[in-house]
Amino acid sequence: MYVVLGGGIGGLSAVHYLKKSTWKHVKLIEASNRLGGWIQTTRTPRGFIFEHGPRTVRPKGVAGENTLALIEDLGLVSRVVPITHNHPAAQNRFIYVNKALYALPSSNICSVFVTQPPFTKPLISALFHDLKAPKKLLKDDSVYDFVERRLGKEIAEYAVCPLVCGICAGDAKEITVKFLMKSLFEAEQAHGSIVKGILMNAIKRKSNSPFRTKCELFKTAVKEKWNVWSLDGGLELLPETLTSSIKNQQADVLLSSPCEEIVFQTGKASLKVRGNVFECDHVISSLPAKQLALLIAKQHPELGEELSSIPTVTVAVVNLQFEGRLLRQDAFGLLVPPSEDLPILGIVFDTCCFPKGDNTVLTVMMGGRWFEKFFGEDPTPDTLLNIAVHHVRSILHISSAPEAHNVSLLNNCIPQYVVGHHERIERIKTYVNNHNLPLSLVGASYDGVGINDVILSARTAVESLIKDIQT
Ligand SMILES: Cc1cc2nc3c(=O)[nH]c(=O)nc-3n(C[C@H](O)[C@H](O)[C@H](O)COP(=O)(O)OP(=O)(O)OC[C@H]3O[C@@H](n4cnc5c(N)ncnc54)[C@H](O)[C@@H]3O)c2cc1C
Repeated sequence: MYVVLGGGIGGLSAVHYLKKSTWKHVKLIEASNRLGGWIQTTRTPRGFIFEHGPRTVRPKGVAGENTLALIEDLGLVSRVVPITHNHPAAQNRFIYVNKALYALPSSNICSVFVTQPPFTKPLISALFHDLKAPKKLLKDDSVYDFVERRLGKEIAEYAVCPLVCGICAGDAKEITVKFLMKSLFEAEQAHGSIVKGILMNAIKRKSNSPFRTKCELFKTAVKEKWNVWSLDGGLELLPETLTSSIKNQQADVLLSSPCEEIVFQTGKASLKVRGNVFECDHVISSLPAKQLALLIAKQHPELGEELSSIPTVTVAVVNLQFEGRLLRQDAFGLLVPPSEDLPILGIVFDTCCFPKGDNTVLTVMMGGRWFEKFFGEDPTPDTLLNIAVHHVRSILHISSAPEAHNVSLLNNCIPQYVVGHHERIERIKTYVNNHNLPLSLVGASYDGVGINDVILSARTAVESLIKDIQT
């Protein structure tokens, strides 16, 4: 029997791929009383969608294609709502600097030649900076230091810091450059410049054979130039549909069953769940690394130490619904650079992506790397709501009270890929291999924090397991 630990999107996908490969005995063990992990949607009585966690998925690359193939497999194609590249939500993003909103430069090539505040020079000047700046030979670097060195301080402050807040609620001064800009970092290390690296990559890409895919939905996404997509009824429809599908295929699902300890023996593992111990042939863990560390540290302290060293941050998410169309401009939303020293990370304009009559739905993201500094250890939902409403008022000039709201406190919800992360993951994988542990690692702690990465990590883990058994 195989056990999958954790019923977030990583664990559910792992069970799905095991079942697809006709694996018979699969048990999914989930600590809480629901499946889906951080993917959670509240559908209000009046039909508004409040996403507590993720809201959109990118259709790009192998991982993006893999998720769309899963959507096809699950029969969810008719529920996909794409945002194409020319939609205002794909074109417009704001940053909030010195009490004013500024549009971030668009992908339009002309925009790099003009000075767009808060930048004091046209973006093209950053490219000259890159060509002149000396190369620094490094194993790793923070994304902030890398961008400041190659493109200048303003790009690091106003473009990269807010981007990192938007993606992982983290501090660009701590997050590894390999998380967001691996190929650009490699370009600097190999060629001494980002510009040269981009040119080399473009040449390489041209010489590669064209990418072929069997996934019709991915072909549509490429043809129609989707920027992101979501699901009609909210993203939780994905884990809900996966749950029905794996239950139909007789997967054994245990809810409210936190795993308390794992002890590995040769080719086997014993799991303690709610005081009972049972054996299995292999464990696929989709738990956050810190949680897994607690379960294995007694037997494998060195591995436990590595796993528990992957930091996480806490985010508060406040969804607000207002009557009327109150936004002055359509956009995906706004981001706040950490240098503004505000408790909010950004505001998503949900009804720009997915309009809902004469209403405005916003999501305020708060805290992240700076959660404790602004909110202490245990803020009340009312405190979080008041701070969110206050900033919506001061930044977006929306003075009416929200008609409906939801406050979610997501403790330790986003792993932080700090400088040295990739080397740590290599050490973790080597430890598991060298000790022949019947353990596969899946989920957001290791090889990517987005939904696509997590689903792909589940597929890769299952495929390599099945391959090992067949050889
Ligand atoms: C606020 C927010 C916004 C996001 N926005 C986006 C977005 O727009 N697009 C995108 O692509 N990604 C986004 N993400 C990231 C995405 O949500 C995650 O990558 C993904 O949900 C992680 O899934 P997972 O299965 O790895 O982990 P989780 O969802 O954390 O699932 C792990 C599961 O393990 C269970 N568990 C823990 N301990 C135990 C135990 N001892 N025994 C048994 N079970 C246990 C937990 O209860 C949980 O259900 C966002 C994340 C957050 C928090």
